[in-house]
Amino acid sequence: MEKMFGLMLLAVVVMITLSACGVFSKKEQPQTTKTILTFLGAPGSGKGTVAEQCVKDLGYATMSTGNLLREAVARGDELGKKAESFMKEGKLVPDELVMALVEEWLTKNMPKISTLVLDGYPRTAAQATLFIDLLKNKFPEVALRVVNIAISDDAIVARLADRLVCSSKPCQAVYSRKLLKDQNNLVCEKCGNPLIRREDDNETVVRNRLKVYADNVDPIIKVYKESGVRFDELNVEGKTVEAVFAEFKKLV
Ligand SMILES: [Zn+2]
Repeated sequence: MEKMFGLMLLAVVVMITLSACGVFSKKEQPQTTKTILTFLGAPGSGKGTVAEQCVKDLGYATMSTGNLLREAVARGDELGKKAESFMKEGKLVPDELVMALVEEWLTKNMPKISTLVLDGYPRTAAQATLFIDLLKNKFPEVALRVVNIAISDDAIVARLADRLVCSSKPCQAVYSRKLLKDQNNLVCEKCGNPLIRREDDNETVVRNRLKVYADNVDPIIKVYKESGVRFDELNVEGKTVEAVFAEFKKLV
């Protein structure tokens, strides 16, 4: 009887010691695997919509370098002032400066995030190279994955010809004209402001933009494939938004 009690006591002591050491606590695991997801896809391919659904339906966090730049300029700190000087002259903000903002943001926010969707970044092969190095050196717990949205130029031209956007700056909701509930009254279903067609949605501008994209994207794909990041293709040609997202969910 005394022996039994002794064994039980020993067991309790062992349990307490182990849990104090964090053996039973998942939070204490040293290597958390986090994911950063970035999409490749021509302007008008619908990658923005997939990214939005990731946030809305799957609860992923999101970060846009456009917003980072605007926020930095508004704060007026050192990086913001530098960025502003380029933007004022209508120049592209240098890759190193964008990456410094990205690093600052990730350092602050990535600890609370398990999956992050990047919106519009990296945009060039040079940015992709810098970003992959940044993750390797500073965020080893993060795995980068790339989803390439595949669609033909003709399908994009047809889609953009049908696109309307909300004229309210803070709203900027995007609609497909043929899917609007009220075809005679082209107003935003979220805020009621008039819907307009973007000037740069006309065919000449769109085809030009697609050519620029095609010239840029091959070197980026090469960087991703050589770096060994997971690279998946999502074919969206002729598919509804719902069908595209269902396929996307099978990938992740
Ligand atoms: Zn609106």
